[in-house]
Amino acid sequence: MKISEILDKNRVTVSFEVFPPKQWDKIESTKETVREMCKSSPSFMSVTYGASGTQAGFTSEIACEIKNSGVTPLSHLTCLTSTRDKIHEVVGDLKENGIENILALRGDIPQGFEFPDKQYFEHAYQLVNEIKELGDFCIGGACYPEIHPESKSRVEDIEYLKQKVDCGVQFLTSQMFFDNDKFLNFYEMCRIKGIDVPIIAGIMPITNAKQIMRSIELSNCSVPKKFYRIMERFGDDAKSMKQAGIIYATEQIIDLMANGVNNIHIYTMNKPDVASAIMSGLSDIIDG
Ligand code: FAD
Repeated sequence: MKISEILDKNRVTVSFEVFPPKQWDKIESTKETVREMCKSSPSFMSVTYGASGTQAGFTSEIACEIKNSGVTPLSHLTCLTSTRDKIHEVVGDLKENGIENILALRGDIPQGFEFPDKQYFEHAYQLVNEIKELGDFCIGGACYPEIHPESKSRVEDIEYLKQKVDCGVQFLTSQMFFDNDKFLNFYEMCRIKGIDVPIIAGIMPITNAKQIMRSIELSNCSVPKKFYRIMERFGDDAKSMKQAGIIYATEQIIDLMANGVNNIHIYTMNKPDVASAIMSGLSDIIDG
């Protein structure tokens, strides 16, 4: 099924993200994680793609497992370090496996990366154009409620986002955020600028404070005082932090829904118990 059809229905959706293993010998245990997650009946499930593209087969393998478990898969794809031929190969493989949804991404610029003389893909919108030529896919894109770290300004970032959407992006998934006002302001700004595709709010449940600080720094997202206090108070106690992180994420989702945001994406960090606890906390809201 295409994600555009899932999001088209005027109802709440909650989807999950998983990442593939770094080594092939861990693929079976990741598949087990996927099967466990699918028991929570997410609206769809996305699987990330290594920035270098060297483990493209892992992403496709996990996307197939999601599909075989009865959930619609969304395969991420990055382009910056790929050749055009490689992109054709990966997209061809997805098509062959019946994967209909692709999140088209540029990928982060690796440290020390030298742009070749003729760089084929510099931005995600070029990948969107390429995928459109290769088949009838539902294509999504990434967006940044607190501005992409490389952008000079919010206005510029949203202008480029509009360009990406105009190329054929049918939905956007946001970078994680912890302050709902930042997302709601961004959402409004997108609508004012004519970006009218569904914008899915990306929620990261923080269940291990220390591990996650680095990704928070890299992602450019601000952390409200309330959240810092939770990490300070419970960060050294694994069980308490996990419980507090699940409750914070669930409250964040409920507040977003109360403000009219119907589409939520949970960065599960491959933790089925966390994903399932959040879904339980929302059970009547999702069904209602
Ligand atoms: P773009 O849309 O190309 O934007 C990148 C920057 O370029 C922005 O500052 C934008 O304003 C600017 N820009 C865009 N178009 C133009 C233009 N025409 N001219 C000049 N500037 C322009 N990374 C992975 O490696 N694997 C993943 O699986 C993955 N999944 C992700 C999922 C989500 C939901 C998100 C939010 C991010 C994900 N990332 C992933 C990270 C992503 O690859 C990086 O954030 C990357 O730096 C930007 O990717 P993009 O697709 O947003 O790029």
